Amino acid sequence: MNYRHAFHAGNFADVLKHAVLFALIDALKSKPAPFCFVDTHAGSGCYALDSTQAGKTGEYKDGIARLLFPDLHGGSAAPLPALLQRWLDMIVDLPGNEDGLRLYPGSPLQAATALRDGDSAQLCELHPEEAGRLRELFRHDGRIHVHQRDGYEGLKGMVPPREKRGLVLIDPPFEAQEDEYRTIEQTLKQTLLRWPGGVYAIWYPIKRRSQVQPFHRWLQHCGAKRVLRAELLVRPDDSPLRLNGSGMVIVNAPWKLDETLREPLRALGRLLSQDRPAQTRLDWLVQEAP
Ligand code: SAM
Repeated sequence: MNYRHAFHAGNFADVLKHAVLFALIDALKSKPAPFCFVDTHAGSGCYALDSTQAGKTGEYKDGIARLLFPDLHGGSAAPLPALLQRWLDMIVDLPGNEDGLRLYPGSPLQAATALRDGDSAQLCELHPEEAGRLRELFRHDGRIHVHQRDGYEGLKGMVPPREKRGLVLIDPPFEAQEDEYRTIEQTLKQTLLRWPGGVYAIWYPIKRRSQVQPFHRWLQHCGAKRVLRAELLVRPDDSPLRLNGSGMVIVNAPWKLDETLREPLRALGRLLSQDRPAQTRLDWLVQEAP
């Protein structure tokens, strides 16, 4: 439990993760029936970019800041695809960001900003300090329920939710390296049995490609009918020592999510390139006709 997201908030991996999250919540909101958002590894909910931790790594400068100031990095200030622009507006409009980008919202706050009155959220966070901050952040919001507990165990008891529709975000710190994938697989296996219709979005780091391939193969045989993969690599995927890129797999991805994400992902590739052009990938690991 050494991981603290404050060092990494708003980095290029968060940008991919949260843009996809935004699209998924958008898709759920296209129907009037309420839904539930479950975040198994929620973090503290909101991060100050002028904190000592964020200052130490400066990771947000090659992430969210690139979208706000594209010309500083030789990128073009061309208009963003509408989905990305709406996501960025949500961050810029956050209370506390009136005088510039000072706060970066984590997944719980991004989701809470998008939820409607009848929707709800269940947030799990194991670290006591992070969970305490999360509880404080949502103390006046009756839609949001914070649990200081293991997210994998918590998830099993939370599905299917009362609303019978919704989204689970699984975003662990991967301190256990490849073992984390085995835990995700076991959890998904049990959870899909209890709630086969839920949408599950799983974030993963890409260091060396071979580390993630067994997980993708597992997904191809897990019984789900639709699994979409979205990845963004800022460096070649052959070094085990640093974060070269990241991806999201979406089990039971909404219809046409690939079309929704295509242009935003291309734009992120252009804006987040580092020493060489970023590579993006958007494809179906499993796609059965409806
Ligand atoms: N989802 C957050 C976001 O997008 O803003 C970031 C989460 S961060 C990558 C991972 C979080 O998981 C950390 O805050 C860590 O304390 C927490 N954590 C680690 N192991 C956990 C577990 N077994 N159950 C729940 N939370 C855990």
